[in-house]
Amino acid sequence: MSNQPDNPWHLTLTRSRLFRFLLTNRYVQPAVHVIMVTLFAWAIWTAFTGPQNPDTNFGSVAFFSLWWSTVMLVSLVVLGRVWCYVCPMGAIVRFTQRFGLQRHFPMFTGPKATVFGISLSVLSITAITFLFARMPMYKLGMVFEPRLVGIYFLAFTALAVGVSLVFQRQAFCRYVCPASGVMSVTSKLSPVEIRQEESTGVQCATLEYQSDYLSTERRCVSCMKCTTEQPKADVGLRVRWPGAAAVRQKIALPDEALLVIVLWAVFPIDHVLGGRVAELIAMSEPWPSVLAYFVSVFAAIGAYSGATALGSRWSGLEWEPSFTRFAYAYLPFSIMYMLGNHVVTNLMTEGGALVNTFFAGLGVPLNLPEALASPSTVAAWEWFNATIWPWLGVLWGIALVWYSATQISDSPGQAIRAIAPHVLLVCLSTAWIIGVVTVPGFGGH
Ligand code: SF4
Ligand code: SF4
Repeated sequence: MSNQPDNPWHLTLTRSRLFRFLLTNRYVQPAVHVIMVTLFAWAIWTAFTGPQNPDTNFGSVAFFSLWWSTVMLVSLVVLGRVWCYVCPMGAIVRFTQRFGLQRHFPMFTGPKATVFGISLSVLSITAITFLFARMPMYKLGMVFEPRLVGIYFLAFTALAVGVSLVFQRQAFCRYVCPASGVMSVTSKLSPVEIRQEESTGVQCATLEYQSDYLSTERRCVSCMKCTTEQPKADVGLRVRWPGAAAVRQKIALPDEALLVIVLWAVFPIDHVLGGRVAELIAMSEPWPSVLAYFVSVFAAIGAYSGATALGSRWSGLEWEPSFTRFAYAYLPFSIMYMLGNHVVTNLMTEGGALVNTFFAGLGVPLNLPEALASPSTVAAWEWFNATIWPWLGVLWGIALVWYSATQISDSPGQAIRAIAPHVLLVCLSTAWIIGVVTVPGFGGH
């Protein structure tokens, strides 16, 4: 049914019977959801009842070591929002909302609040939920106590059920889920997009953008309504330049720019600044860590806004489009910092032990060696991660904002003036974060 021109960068997945079945059969996703919700419930149960050591507790390992840091970040950067297809929380939301009040959540296309000249909408709620969801993990030490991990996920489940009992159309997924906003921006870095090849005429279950076709690039929650109701419409895999989706956004949203800066704040900035600021606050724990976390957020937003104001004044480009488009300068480095310092290093040094714990929790004993890489490979990675890897992220981010700037500027000179403060800020802050330059009292990594 595809009218897609032959394109070497495009693969029609549904030409394969297996993929057509997986993507368009209405019973496949519910079956996956039953498995995932069972696994989710088991992880919460074992968080309470298993050994209270985060390295050997199934719930802790499943939620934090394997799911959040590894599966989420890697799948997002490689494949976009595919996690929503299997997400147990999404399954709970869809089941619960059938029995709810079915009220409308305010749509993002409705009235917007203007904050410092930036039009923000309800989409910014996900920036706030992400901030408050991440804070207790590390600042209140929840990741280190399996019982608290169980309480944490039970609390989120209660919130998801509560929102779904009032609002319709997966409002929790669109506006509250802390992962949703993160996914909507990080998926723009992915080198592939999974999407139906034409409009299907099926009204999107979420009403986002009045869209009527699946696309992992947008704020789609992978409910598969549009594929299962039009099983003959082809679904394809499009290959694109990593980050092209951030450059070519038809509807660029300031809310998403804010989210990018929040990610920059809580991933690399807080890792360095948070510790230093906490040492300066003479209060009992956990207040110094909690306050330092929010100092990092305000410092990042302030620095970004300052660079945007400078670039806007110097180039003559408007403030809001500049704020909206140039945040992506900071995203690749932020994500690569997390991948480099946590995901890759953890998998190399203790990936086998984590997989052993996960499968032991399912009753399948494995005996993988604790480390998945030799000490010399780990040492080589650590050198690469401390030297070249961060700068690849910086270059990637600069390339993204350069192309963005050329689209909204009249000349290359104007584009250079618009992004120059951001280039300076991302380079200097990265040099400080990785310890190439030090600030007295606020040294690098
Ligand atoms: S938006 Fe959040 S809760 Fe909803 S399906 Fe995706 S990850 Fe799950
Ligand atoms: S109907 Fe289609 S485009 Fe809309 S959320 Fe569901 S899968 Fe995504």
